[in-house]
Amino acid sequence: MNPSPSPLATARAQLATAVQILGYDDGMHAVLRQPRRELHVAVPLRRDDGHVELLHGYRVQHNISRGPGKGGLRYAPGVDIDEVRALAMWMTWKCAVVELPYGGAKGGVTIDPRAYSPFELERVTRRYTSEIMPMIGPERDVMAPDIGTDEQVMAWVMDTYSVNRGFTIPAVTTGKPLAVGGSLGRATATSRGVLHAATATLRDAGVRLDEVSAAIQGFGKVGAPLARFLHEKGCRVVAVGDERGAIVRTDGLDVAALTAHVARTGSVVGFADADPLDPAELLALDVDVLFPAAVEGVLDEESAARVKARWVVEAANGPTTTEGDRVLADRGVVVVPDILANAGGVVVSYFEWVQANQAYWWTEREIEERLEHRMLEAYATVSQVSRAEGISLRDAALVIGVRRVAEAHLIRGLYP
Ligand code: GLU
Repeated sequence: MNPSPSPLATARAQLATAVQILGYDDGMHAVLRQPRRELHVAVPLRRDDGHVELLHGYRVQHNISRGPGKGGLRYAPGVDIDEVRALAMWMTWKCAVVELPYGGAKGGVTIDPRAYSPFELERVTRRYTSEIMPMIGPERDVMAPDIGTDEQVMAWVMDTYSVNRGFTIPAVTTGKPLAVGGSLGRATATSRGVLHAATATLRDAGVRLDEVSAAIQGFGKVGAPLARFLHEKGCRVVAVGDERGAIVRTDGLDVAALTAHVARTGSVVGFADADPLDPAELLALDVDVLFPAAVEGVLDEESAARVKARWVVEAANGPTTTEGDRVLADRGVVVVPDILANAGGVVVSYFEWVQANQAYWWTEREIEERLEHRMLEAYATVSQVSRAEGISLRDAALVIGVRRVAEAHLIRGLYP
């Protein structure tokens, strides 16, 4: 078995394809490929028992030609600079696809957050924030939650930044708690956006959500609300998985009861009204729609060859490798790419930033309507380019995103 290519290899291969379709020269390709700035910081942490541990943190601004860097902060044991580079590049194309006035950025700390107390996580977050202070800010680079971080982490980042500047600056992060300038609808925005992308894709094929079955890999910030929304729309959610295992019930899971079980036990494993499932089999289940909502690289050459779903809607960032993409295309599986399908999170992050900048907050209805509108507009443009050019939805989304970024470079010109 060949090892799966790294997220960065996948992201770079995707860019190379877009550059080739667009006919850009090597100079433009090099500019689009290379992160604009990156910072690697040491994060010394005093553990609760008094001893000191050294962690590593990163912030990468892949591109800032269309506006401030934008992207999440990830706390995970496997985080390294190359993963952050890949995730930052995907943020650049994602923000451009949904027409946000942002570039792309990402941050990470190499840490398993479950092995640390809340006090330790607060110290890690504050030290990391103070180390990357010169790089961030509402007009420079705006952070949001990602795997392993949440609204509390965003509140600590915002507080650390604000205390150092001497006044409250809510727009330095998004995905904050409502009490300190967060936005209604942000917590579920990524999942809502995935739902809109899936609905639009199925509609194009003359199919409704209440006619299909689905499996979701991941039951966290994105997967869990997604299961609920799908269930509410009448979709039969037959299987879900998380880091500890997976479960299946062919006639459909009771999502509310499952959510209560997860709140109690911390995992989908052991849910009484379902059968245990080998997590590796989840991706190969005989369902209509597969939603990878966990991590990168899970659909590679081998696992993609076993996919039976007709649609793959990428709720995670980078779940499909380049080889995986080729295999899925050969098998006639329609892939709705991450930079379109999961863009709802950053869309409502943008709304949160706009609200914070104006110090004027919108209603939940306004947010949900604007989110749906933006997702459907972006989907329509991507699917139109895909049909007109005879290319996959992924290549169409990349071509649109990359072209918008390249246009900004060309119009701004080169300094000096
Ligand atoms: N971490 C999310 C993503 O990968 C959200 C980023 C943001 O809102 O800035 O899209």
